[in-house]
Amino acid sequence: METAKIPVQPPKRRRIGVLTSGGDAPGMNGAVRAVVRMTIHCDCEAYAIFEGYEGLVNGGNMIRQVHWEDVRGWLSRGGTLIGSARSMAFRERAGRMRAAKNMVLRGIDALVVCGGDGSLTGADVFREEWPSLLADLVGAGELTQEQIDPYKVLNIVGLVGSIDNDMSGTDATIGCYSSLTRICDAVDDVFDTAFSHQRGFVIEVMGRHCGWLALMSAISTGADWLFIPEIPPRDDWEDDMCSIITKNRKERGKRRTIVIVAEGAQDRQLNKISSATVKDILTQRLGLDTRVTVLGHTQRGGAACAYDRWLSTLQGVEAVRAVLEMSPESPSPVITIRENKIMRTPLMEAVQATKNVTAKIHAKDFAAAMTLRDPEFKEYHQAYLHTATPEHPKLMLPEAKRMRIAIIHVGAPAGGMNQATRAAVAYCLTRGHTPLAIHNGFPGLCRHHADKPVGSVREVKWLESDSWVNEGGSDIGTNRSLPAEDMESTAKCFELYKFDALFVVGGFEAFTAVSQLRQAREKYDAFKIPLIALPATISNNVPGTEYSLGSDTCLNTLIDFCDAIRQSASSSRRRVFVIETQGGKSGYIATMAGLSVGAVAVYIPEEGINIKMLSRDIDFLRDNFVRDKGANRAGKIILRNECASGTYTTQVIADMIKEEAKGRFESRAAVPGHFQQGGKPSPMDRVRALRMSIKCMQHIETYAGKSVDEVNADPLSAAVIGVQGSQVLFSPMGGESGLEATETDWSRRRPKSEFWLNLQEVVNVLSGRSAPGGQE
Ligand code: ATP
Repeated sequence: METAKIPVQPPKRRRIGVLTSGGDAPGMNGAVRAVVRMTIHCDCEAYAIFEGYEGLVNGGNMIRQVHWEDVRGWLSRGGTLIGSARSMAFRERAGRMRAAKNMVLRGIDALVVCGGDGSLTGADVFREEWPSLLADLVGAGELTQEQIDPYKVLNIVGLVGSIDNDMSGTDATIGCYSSLTRICDAVDDVFDTAFSHQRGFVIEVMGRHCGWLALMSAISTGADWLFIPEIPPRDDWEDDMCSIITKNRKERGKRRTIVIVAEGAQDRQLNKISSATVKDILTQRLGLDTRVTVLGHTQRGGAACAYDRWLSTLQGVEAVRAVLEMSPESPSPVITIRENKIMRTPLMEAVQATKNVTAKIHAKDFAAAMTLRDPEFKEYHQAYLHTATPEHPKLMLPEAKRMRIAIIHVGAPAGGMNQATRAAVAYCLTRGHTPLAIHNGFPGLCRHHADKPVGSVREVKWLESDSWVNEGGSDIGTNRSLPAEDMESTAKCFELYKFDALFVVGGFEAFTAVSQLRQAREKYDAFKIPLIALPATISNNVPGTEYSLGSDTCLNTLIDFCDAIRQSASSSRRRVFVIETQGGKSGYIATMAGLSVGAVAVYIPEEGINIKMLSRDIDFLRDNFVRDKGANRAGKIILRNECASGTYTTQVIADMIKEEAKGRFESRAAVPGHFQQGGKPSPMDRVRALRMSIKCMQHIETYAGKSVDEVNADPLSAAVIGVQGSQVLFSPMGGESGLEATETDWSRRRPKSEFWLNLQEVVNVLSGRSAPGGQE
């Protein structure tokens, strides 16, 4: 233990501590890595505090300086490598005094805390008490005035690490999507047995106060019924549940029954609803062979999914920026995310709102609890209900408002296309619309037989679409061809099948198709109906959105590929893999994968590749291998987008590296190709597909009963739905400010402004590539 006698010099460089606290969550290691490297990049010193607040209280070897190389390979590791604990000592002022003393002795006056609301509350209590703790330490003779003078203010920045996603003010916490992935993998596996034996499965998932995991897994797996703490079912829920399940099985022919129960599920009187109770009801009332699966701690473990890797990385970087930009008066921030935007929110506001939700639930004021939760949560819940209770009389529209809504897939398959279609079909059936699937894109619509159009257009039934919930690819078939190839027949078929609206799911071709149809409205009245595109492409290159369905599935597939390939080099330890990613002329996938795997460099079409760049990178690799002495040695990764350069192909770059390395290390080229489209869609693609698709249907509905001229006059009648910063918006295709004219780089098939371009710099900072001569 240090004593007050140890002379302490005010640090020349700021020292920033980082700790993980509360329950571990996948992605915590990514956050620590980013905090450590960003701190070093900013010419400060990074300290890891081991075992959460326990380490801060005990000091000694539990507070250690961490260097650049120490966090190598951490992005792919589950749990938290610096340990976490629930510290009773830190809850007491005496413990916090010891913690303050340890920090002053180490010269640390900034803490980045990654944990749940308890941990962040503890951090804020500590910050508030800091001046009085130091004064008491001086009073007790444990520190001198001279020692505490340089550390008048403690800076705290919170990162929310929790699998439950129970913090208000942020759409997602670090770890929640990884946990959701574990759950969905397990339920997907249960499907097969449930289907084979026509069984019921009651799946219990984590979430004592927050039903996010339960809700999202119900959406991702098409569960028949859901129990979450925030929205207890109405009284006599047993009858409601049995009636829906009976309807799904008997009338609709569904063979598998899935009920998701959050561990904190309760009824309106706050009596627990346990998975065993639900099982008994299904067995006794319906005679359904029902099993319970309690997923337990498998939900916490394993490597972080792509989202948690890049989220923790970007938030870790933002946390260090926040520390360095704080003034003594600034309230402590917590780093949050809204849709796609990383933000800073006052920490105690977020914690208070979180606590209020729990208080409202305890007070049985469930409506207020839902209002206090993020609006996104409520929206997801309503979207789930729309798909889980088809043909509900209360939701049915009057005859005059019902529409014939055509659904088409255009372009390459992408994860989430099927779920988007399933959601659209379920929504249509719930509201009384007719969902019409066009098979195999525009060529499928415009087939001719004996000079008559006989399009592959079919009304979709609920049972068929319900099975698409977790299927990859495109079940109704997709095609790259565009309507302009035969506009005349396309218009005829629109009339023949009496389409009132067209819902187009796909990538840049889908966008182009809507644009062509909109422009053809001048000639054909048949196109004066709502034409709405939902972007779905692994390349994420559609104007009007920062997120396309399928891009998350692709990223997850790529990081699995990179993790495996990198590990293959752990015995030889001196190998660089040059991996070619898809993405067309957009470097999004390469860049996000680079952030998520900790790539040494990412080559993208937006920047191109030149000889100077390669030569510098080869020097950088050489230095990097010299310093590579730690325990976490494995292969290094360079990601090259397929269109980054016509000359410097993936193989050429790998060969150049090999040649220049002169035997000190080797290199290999790898092309995952269509593997990147992924198998089953990621949970994020599934849940976003459902939400976006339903939003599109609701938007389409606003045109019910309008004349062709009224529709034509409204710019939003030909539109793209998309995530833009912290919002989900519809953007018009046409008009002066429409996407076609303002946002589209038609020749390169990508948006003119790409929101992610500055993330290249983060990849470079965290790999050390941006530092002159690399990082020490
Ligand atoms: P999870 O969401 O996994 O439960 P959490 O951060 O909410 O994570 P807690 O057990 O509530 O987990 O808190 C973790 C630690 O934070 C506690 O063991 C304690 O050391 C500290 N802590 C929590 N609340 C306070 C508080 N009010 N004052 C001081 N320290 C606290």
